[in-house]
Amino acid sequence: MSWRTKSKLDWLRTLPGLAEEEPLDSRNSFGIGGPAEFFLELGKAEAIEKTIAGAKTREIPYLLLGAGTNLLIADRGVEGLVIRVVNRDFHVAGTRVRAAAGLKMMRLARIAADANLRGFEFAIGVPGTVGGAVYQNAGSWGKELSEVLVEADGFSPGSGKKTWTPIELKLGYRTSALREGALKGSLVVSATIQLDRGDGEEAKRLMAKLTRERNETQPIKTKNCGSVFKNPPGDSAGRLVQAAGLKGLREGKALVSQQHGNFIINEGGATADDVRRLIERIQAEVGRRFNMQLETEVELVGRWK
Ligand SMILES: Cc1cc2nc3c(=O)[nH]c(=O)nc-3n(C[C@H](O)[C@H](O)[C@H](O)COP(=O)(O)OP(=O)(O)OC[C@H]3O[C@@H](n4cnc5c(N)ncnc54)[C@H](O)[C@@H]3O)c2cc1C
Repeated sequence: MSWRTKSKLDWLRTLPGLAEEEPLDSRNSFGIGGPAEFFLELGKAEAIEKTIAGAKTREIPYLLLGAGTNLLIADRGVEGLVIRVVNRDFHVAGTRVRAAAGLKMMRLARIAADANLRGFEFAIGVPGTVGGAVYQNAGSWGKELSEVLVEADGFSPGSGKKTWTPIELKLGYRTSALREGALKGSLVVSATIQLDRGDGEEAKRLMAKLTRERNETQPIKTKNCGSVFKNPPGDSAGRLVQAAGLKGLREGKALVSQQHGNFIINEGGATADDVRRLIERIQAEVGRRFNMQLETEVELVGRWK
């Protein structure tokens, strides 16, 4: 039975700033996907908390959206309410920085360097937000958020405001209890990281070098979602895709990058179904040739057939 009763729709329509059938393709790095049935952009933690608590009580499905850099959104869009989290404040206190969930990781990396703090340079390669990075335990160049995260403030509908330790967050390789566990559906409000005092100019030089290396090895200027697959233990998904001869494979306007096998590019006009078919073909071929099951790092959300 549909959740769309008159009283639930009436409640949704009381929310200030609510949009209906709002396009999401311009709000994710793939540039793909149908609209949000209902959409809100919220910058105040209390407003987001109140809204998801209200949605949860009424059993209205909701999805939190950061920068949309790790999502494949279905062509038929997303059912229920999509809330784009845009709180972006931060506070530097000694060697600790607290950053709101909507702040971009790249921006936070520059803020840390400006404050002469070291140890967050790896985040210059992560185009998503702090909230998405906690959800995903984002990482790059052999480092990940869990190595510097002290705690995250959050909100779970039902149990209220919480401060989670990294252990409670169960941060693993590109996962957490928010993605697959007890904290599913919870909101990350902010994250506090612990860095080292050091030379900010050196940090900026290192970030410039890492960015140059990335530009040379990955199709950064295209529409993509970063790594499509997680690396299997002791191997790399990109290497397996290349070894299976799948670079350049295509479905419609979705193409496996020639530059890096773990990237799928939207050449313009690719559908989510194109990308999904390509993902499934890669998984089948890599499975057949190397007896290895590639797991997706990108998250498929929305109304799939
Ligand atoms: C070119 C490119 C390069 C990339 N390189 C890397 C890399 O080196 N390392 C890496 O780890 N990732 C990389 N990524 C993937 C992506 O940037 C990260 O996974 C990032 O952490 C996702 O953040 P986001 O804000 O875009 O999240 P979204 O894609 O918007 O959402 C992803 C998930 O996080 C949840 N979420 C978002 N905000 C919150 C919140 N406040 N509270 C609770 N849940 C929330 C969403 O509900 C969703 O389930 C790359 C992506 C691109 C496009």
